[in-house]
Amino acid sequence: MAQAERVERHADALSRLWPGYWPKGQPFILYAPDIGAVFGGARLPDTPRFRPGRLEGAEFHFVLDYPSGVPDTVLLRPDGADDDLSTLFHEQFHDFQNTAFRWMSGDGHQEFVDLNAIPDLTGFIAALDLERLVLQAALLEPDAPARKHLAQTYLALRTARSADLPAEVLAVQQQREWSEGTAEFIGLQAAHLIADRPDATLPSTIARALTTPSQNDMSLVSELLRWRAYPVGAALTWLLADVGADQWRAQLGQGVPLDVLLRQTIGEGSVEDAAAAAARFDLPGLKAQAAERLAQALEGVTTREAFLDQAPHWLVLELTAPVERGKEIQLSFSAAKMSPLADGAIALPHGMVVMEAPGFALKSERNPALIDVPVGVVTGGVIAHAVTLPLAAADLHELRAGEPFLLEKEGLSLRIAAPYEIHQQAGRTRISFALPQEP
Ligand SMILES: [Zn+2]
Repeated sequence: MAQAERVERHADALSRLWPGYWPKGQPFILYAPDIGAVFGGARLPDTPRFRPGRLEGAEFHFVLDYPSGVPDTVLLRPDGADDDLSTLFHEQFHDFQNTAFRWMSGDGHQEFVDLNAIPDLTGFIAALDLERLVLQAALLEPDAPARKHLAQTYLALRTARSADLPAEVLAVQQQREWSEGTAEFIGLQAAHLIADRPDATLPSTIARALTTPSQNDMSLVSELLRWRAYPVGAALTWLLADVGADQWRAQLGQGVPLDVLLRQTIGEGSVEDAAAAAARFDLPGLKAQAAERLAQALEGVTTREAFLDQAPHWLVLELTAPVERGKEIQLSFSAAKMSPLADGAIALPHGMVVMEAPGFALKSERNPALIDVPVGVVTGGVIAHAVTLPLAAADLHELRAGEPFLLEKEGLSLRIAAPYEIHQQAGRTRISFALPQEP
């Protein structure tokens, strides 16, 4: 309750963080399943501020566009009373990006990157770590000219590292920094704002997040090309604001990568600057660490075949709809760990998947799952979603094409009320469910 009031009290300042991002009456819900929901911002005239009990359809940590009756309501389940709500602001910024941001190149959205295409992976990881340390030093540097010099040095190191990198790696790196980094920046900035912390503490918060991650159980691709991008992108965004780059918000909205814009604004350091930083931050030591990290990296599952080898039988659920009805299909998933696979799918070793459409409802919890992405591929005017789950063939013995099907078991609930097709293959049962043209 107090958090919601803090958000509303700062509505003016929040609306100025990024024009259009958080309108003054931005509707939001803070939800604790065991207690109830607090409604904030603009809400329906008869909605109480607080409603005890559970909310329908709020299965996830956050929900963009929660159907509260007020359009564009964002819902968050705070992690306890001291949650700083940065996730709420981060995710809402993604929602804003969806309409206000255009990535300038078509490339860079894929989750999977073939690390074998990087000529010297150890050197690559060490170089990323070195860059992170220089960026951290820049954010913590109180003297403006010295700070700018460190930022220029960072850019020089980055240019040197990028020289022999495949274009797809560069594209993923820049796209992720651009989308996640700006969201991370706004999330942290807004959280600082509602907590009445001075602006000056923001760079040190970002700098802390730049500390080399040490989660060894993480997929290496995700660690290097996804999670690293959050604090690096947030740091670059902060620097753009700090140096007062011309029209930087508008330029980012048009899809200019953060590092490109920063380089255009302040230029980059010399080869000597880069060499001095390598000595100051012990590049040889970072290389030794990187080699150790690589030796310990779990091979992990990187192909669809390897993932599907884990269970003898799988249920493939395929949902299609005409593009006009695409919005009636909802697919959401979350997991502590997600592994991007070579063919573009995402493997969840253990996670939650919810897929819903008129006449169709799936909820799978604490199960492996394979999600075909991009979610909602459009071909020939049809939008398709596919989820693959491990399920014994015996659990499907009541399945008859065209007849309603209901399955309830530990961690899995599936209800299909309208006609569907069944395709049997070795080790797979594929159910194809299509929404017709007309509801
Ligand atoms: Zn994000």
